[in-house]
Amino acid sequence: MKRLRAQLSADPRVLTSLPLEIDPDEVLRFQGYKKSGEPPGPDVRALFDEALALGRRLIDPRAVLRWLPVTARGADTIEAGGVLLTIPDVGRLWGPVDWIAAAVCTIGDGLENRVAELWTARELPLAAMLDSVGSGAVESLAEHVNDLLCQETIALGLPVTNRVSPGYGRWDVSDQRALFALCGGQAIGVRLNEACFMTPVKSISLLAAAGAGARVDHYFSQCARCWMAGCAYRRTPAGGTVRHS
Ligand code: SF4
Repeated sequence: MKRLRAQLSADPRVLTSLPLEIDPDEVLRFQGYKKSGEPPGPDVRALFDEALALGRRLIDPRAVLRWLPVTARGADTIEAGGVLLTIPDVGRLWGPVDWIAAAVCTIGDGLENRVAELWTARELPLAAMLDSVGSGAVESLAEHVNDLLCQETIALGLPVTNRVSPGYGRWDVSDQRALFALCGGQAIGVRLNEACFMTPVKSISLLAAAGAGARVDHYFSQCARCWMAGCAYRRTPAGGTVRHS
């Protein structure tokens, strides 16, 4: 544990200029296209290309993240940094974790402002596709951060769990306040309103955990989209990437 404490900083870190890839399949999934279903036609493809090019110019991916030692664990709770998080079934799903990482990611508000302009101008198909590009981009960003967390601890023998976010599954969205108490989004321009929704809208807050006995990949494999070439701990081949080369 001493070696890990020396290498993991509890200070919040801000990451900017992240080399983010946007997964076309993810964007089209937000548009209602499934891999197993009818593929998009040429007009949709052309719209996608236009929105992707526009989106790449408008996104400004950044993240703030922080590691904290776990001070107490329960069946549905984790405590760290003096903050109690209530996550249903976390004890079973994550196992005996020793550290948590809290993070907030955003692509900024440039893309959503352009979407609003397009709606006003009644350019609805492009507005909807650009919005999906933004959703795909912020999902890739959250994956990117999850991969980064794994790379920081895996060589120390501490696997990292998959990420969870307040408001997803059975984790109540009101715990967003607790997550922000651990790692606030202000440093990257992300604010929380009374209803616990974030601004800019294309933002994701997340929590992951690490520990020698941590349970990983209980619903999908983190490695499947990780860009880390030659990782000795890789569990499955990379099927895609969230990093722009
Ligand atoms: S390849 Fe898998 S084990 Fe290796 S750093 Fe990436 S996510 Fe972690």
